[in-house]
Amino acid sequence: MTTLQQTDAAGDLDFDAVVIGAGLSGMYMLYRLRERGLKVRVLEAGTGVGGTWYWNRYPGARFDSESWSYGFSFSQELLDEWDWQEHFAGQPEVERYCRHVAQKFDLNADIQFRARVAAAHFDAEGHCWTVRLDDGTSYRTRFLISAIGLLSAPTMPRFEGIEDFQGQWCHTGLWPKEGIDYAGKRVAVIGTGASGVQAIQEICKTAAHLTVFQRRPNWCTPLHNGPITKPEMDEIRSRYDEIFELCRQTAACFVHTINPRGTFEVSEAERLAFWEERYDGQGFGIWQGNFRDMLVDREANRLMSEFVADKIRQRVKDPKTADLLIPDDHGFGTRRVPQETGYYEVYNRDNVSLVSMLETPIERITASGVRTSEKDYDFDVIIYATGFDAVTGAFDRIDIRGNGGVKLKEKWTGGPRTFVGVMVDDFPNMFMIMGPHAALGNNPRSIEYNVEWIRDLIGHVTDEGLTRTEARPDSVAEWNAFVHEKAEGLLSNEIDSWMTGINMNVEGKQTRTIVRYSGTAPEYRAFCDEVAATGYRELDFG
Ligand code: NAP
Repeated sequence: MTTLQQTDAAGDLDFDAVVIGAGLSGMYMLYRLRERGLKVRVLEAGTGVGGTWYWNRYPGARFDSESWSYGFSFSQELLDEWDWQEHFAGQPEVERYCRHVAQKFDLNADIQFRARVAAAHFDAEGHCWTVRLDDGTSYRTRFLISAIGLLSAPTMPRFEGIEDFQGQWCHTGLWPKEGIDYAGKRVAVIGTGASGVQAIQEICKTAAHLTVFQRRPNWCTPLHNGPITKPEMDEIRSRYDEIFELCRQTAACFVHTINPRGTFEVSEAERLAFWEERYDGQGFGIWQGNFRDMLVDREANRLMSEFVADKIRQRVKDPKTADLLIPDDHGFGTRRVPQETGYYEVYNRDNVSLVSMLETPIERITASGVRTSEKDYDFDVIIYATGFDAVTGAFDRIDIRGNGGVKLKEKWTGGPRTFVGVMVDDFPNMFMIMGPHAALGNNPRSIEYNVEWIRDLIGHVTDEGLTRTEARPDSVAEWNAFVHEKAEGLLSNEIDSWMTGINMNVEGKQTRTIVRYSGTAPEYRAFCDEVAATGYRELDFG
């Protein structure tokens, strides 16, 4: 296998491929491209591998996919030697796993840490990218691959006074490595999405007092985590083929299969028994394995929401607090469902209080705490669990320019448009892993697929002695139409959330757009397989 270094038309390339990000996507891309003999450099802003699992080290951070369905599936040796300790591993275990993978496959040798990419510009004559770091270093590479994650650009609320606060504060997605000592202190958590819910459950155990500032509540359901014993792990290991095959068949690559029946095709008793079973079951079964019409039929969704609302009322002692915790602006499952372990019981504790920002909005952050429309609160620590500029946010933070200097951010004004979530017209030789409009869900399953598809395409380019490939505008239009068609009728598309491109903290992200592919992963893979099998007719080459 010759590398592009040896055949390079431009003559002065530093690398065949630059990968941005050393999370699971970047690590696996490196492994696969290096296997093909390419000279690869991964540029990672952090000081270690893991991506999401490197940055999100807030207390309580953990999987909500079953650990054994989430790990890499490509290496039998890795599967044989790694024992998951919990059904839903916590961040320290996941980070350990990422480090283990990096060490096992000697990935660190080609990863440059503390390397934050500021810009990437395409050179249309040289058929290559110039990638510039924020310290001014730049590299020239034939291929550019983004492995920057869907939820990696943390966003702060636009409150006045954030910097005035004299105590300690941070965002959950940028939790300091040395940790935050909140034990015995007065702590505020702002935000009750999946991150806030996980952090709140943990912080309340040792804080002197925890005040939760909630804007819109979410529907949370039990995770039912537990340790994995050695015999249990051996049994899981014996079923890995079966587990990954199941993930290949399900809509979002989880191990939960949708109930093929409609909500109203069963008796009320049967329906309730099924929901009870799902509520008592592990993980996303209640969301991803519910009746087939739960996310499209308003009445079915209303009944399901009522079922979960009753659970909240049963678990929270104070009826007014329970009411505050029950969403009334969206139905169950139409936003991402946070998974919890004793979350609702947190509000029965004497050291926890809940402030509804809908009733008493935060007016500003002060030197000593938070001022709402009602009163001033004093805190030692403020934690912002306020989410991310999702899907396109991490791209927007890099100055990416394609043919003729066209800016990706501008091209995506009004919503992203891609070819299978991997390529963009006018951005030759650029590939995205888990880009907008690619299949999501239990992400590593889709990451492995995306990476292997990109590897094969790069292989096709290099094997043919070519130096450039680009998605044709009509191919992008076709994929975009398909993505939009698949989104029709979903109740979730009527709701403001990161899944519909909304982030009130970010300029220009106040209008709902289709940022997510909502067809099934098997459909997605069938389409992409066909593209490859028929010689990539949807792409231009040069
Ligand atoms: P999120 O779901 O976007 O939640 C952000 C929270 O902050 C919301 O409660 C939001 O309130 C609130 N907020 C934001 N800006 C605010 C403002 N200016 N004033 C008041 N409240 C504000 O973010 P996240 O919890 O970090 O989760 C994001 C995604 O990351 C999840 O959906 C999930 O996909 C992923 N995640 C996964 C895991 C896991 O797999 N284990 C764990 C954590 C996160 P509103 O709802 O009113 O906007």
